[in-house]
Amino acid sequence: MKNKLFIYNTLTRKKEEFKPLHEPNVGLYVCGPTVYGDAHLGHARPAITFDVLFRYLTHLGYKVRYVRNITDVGHLEHDADEGEDKIAKKARLEKLEPMEVVQYYLLRYHKAMEQLNVLPPSIEPHASGHIIEQIEFVKKILDAGYAYESEGSIYFDVEKYNKNFHYGKLSGRNIDELLETTRELDGQSEKRRSVDFALWKKASPEHIMRWPSPWGEGFPGWHLECSAMGTKYLGEEFDIHGGGMDLMFPHHECEIAQNSAALGKETVKYWMHNNMITINGQKMGKSLGNFITLDEFFSGRHSLLSQPFTPMTIRFFILQAHYRSTVDFSSDALEASEKGLARLMEAYMRLQKLMPSATSTVEIVGLRDKCEAAMCDDLNTPIVISHLFDVAKAINTVHDGKGAISETDLTELKDVFDVFVKDILGLQTEDVAGESNEAYKKAIDLLLQMRLEAKQNKDWATSDKIRNELTALGFSIKDTKDGFEWSL
Ligand code: ZN
Repeated sequence: MKNKLFIYNTLTRKKEEFKPLHEPNVGLYVCGPTVYGDAHLGHARPAITFDVLFRYLTHLGYKVRYVRNITDVGHLEHDADEGEDKIAKKARLEKLEPMEVVQYYLLRYHKAMEQLNVLPPSIEPHASGHIIEQIEFVKKILDAGYAYESEGSIYFDVEKYNKNFHYGKLSGRNIDELLETTRELDGQSEKRRSVDFALWKKASPEHIMRWPSPWGEGFPGWHLECSAMGTKYLGEEFDIHGGGMDLMFPHHECEIAQNSAALGKETVKYWMHNNMITINGQKMGKSLGNFITLDEFFSGRHSLLSQPFTPMTIRFFILQAHYRSTVDFSSDALEASEKGLARLMEAYMRLQKLMPSATSTVEIVGLRDKCEAAMCDDLNTPIVISHLFDVAKAINTVHDGKGAISETDLTELKDVFDVFVKDILGLQTEDVAGESNEAYKKAIDLLLQMRLEAKQNKDWATSDKIRNELTALGFSIKDTKDGFEWSL
């Protein structure tokens, strides 16, 4: 029997038992990055949050189709309607093709995600590869009567939609407030009302990223891609849609409106949002000088950082907070996480070498259930980590010869650590990779031993081949009187 997973549904504002629409299949859609700059903490948090969800759902036995999109067109500087396309602007400044910008930053994003041990999604669709689907989606909204054409652009008619549906249901806003708070139109606007948003924008003559459509050459509005690609890959109704809290309004609100208008029904059953990150108590922003990219964390090259921090420290730090809490990054807090992670991983390593006794003097019973219960309570990773720390103390007691553990307990403990530390929290350090490190060292030793034997047999061809090829791979090899030494 599966554990009952409860998740907080932003739409209903309560924790709900997760019941998939088509058990054992689960559809999960998460808004991915707009690829026009290096990945930073704002990318790391949703990626890690939903990676843990993906891992946990898989652990529970579900077959998850995880879609995380790539925004490579249509994300304007001011959301859906105004300003230059973020990617086109970068391309203009760097004198590159927009798709060169996308390729460059996407490769760097993937590398950063791999370093953070974030598993790749099942499908990673690009907005620019789904222009036809987006045009079809606009047609459905037009046919349903919830959009209008103006000067070659198509806008979503929020007021009309709100008569039959509820615009603002996700973010808790209502249309009257929105009409009051959004700035007045100056009379020059193509839009009927300030709350309306673009589904399709006419391309001005200088706009590079443009496609033909029934309404002339243009490009899709930012919110549209997630409606088109989510329903294409996961169906008109699917289980979970995730993203950062900053996307709740207007991005996700507009996505709900688009889907309800086009399909006449709700698409997403559970909406999940991770909270935001601050740096030394401040919002993160380029103008505030506290905008730290992941590469800068990994290298330590930023004036706000006291030292480099490994990807696993960043991951562990993020998981030490519940995903719906805010997280404040500071060098001090990261140093504390680094120590905590080292302590946990040391216990993990020691666990592998413990010898069983006839009976246990340490208490480990119930660890698995406690960790499962914490994960089932809306992915409470900080509680899982605290349970693991409790048991780490017991491991150290046995390691220090001040306690004993039975064979049954030892087997259980090893399995619980493998499942929760490695598989679910996705933590790995060089120490944990120690076993594979050990194997790798032994393999190089073996090769060099064979080279030594070849030399003794005057088989110079083989001996040179091994040395040359290892050197080409970056190894430095030194012959000593006892044999050899090597380093990478
Ligand atoms: Zn999205």
